[in-house]
Amino acid sequence: MKGDYLRGKEQLVNCSNCGRMVPRNKAVADERVIRFSTDVRADSVSYMTRRKVYYCISCAKHKGVFERKKEQAQRAAERYDR
Ligand SMILES: [Zn+2]
Repeated sequence: MKGDYLRGKEQLVNCSNCGRMVPRNKAVADERVIRFSTDVRADSVSYMTRRKVYYCISCAKHKGVFERKKEQAQRAAERYDR
């Protein structure tokens, strides 16, 4: 049926670890800092950029994304307390 294909309007994203297609609402978003550098010696031409990456559930578990997120949340909460 044609309609079945469009039923899940959720956008699909690629898991950046295993490449599986997962619906956006089921994927785990993580932020990765990428550092570019054109010269190893000098830190003149280097900059960092943040890129949002998505993992499927199993990869997120495997990579400890949940743990990291929990830690971050705890740290944020501590900061908020003070
Ligand atoms: Zn995956």
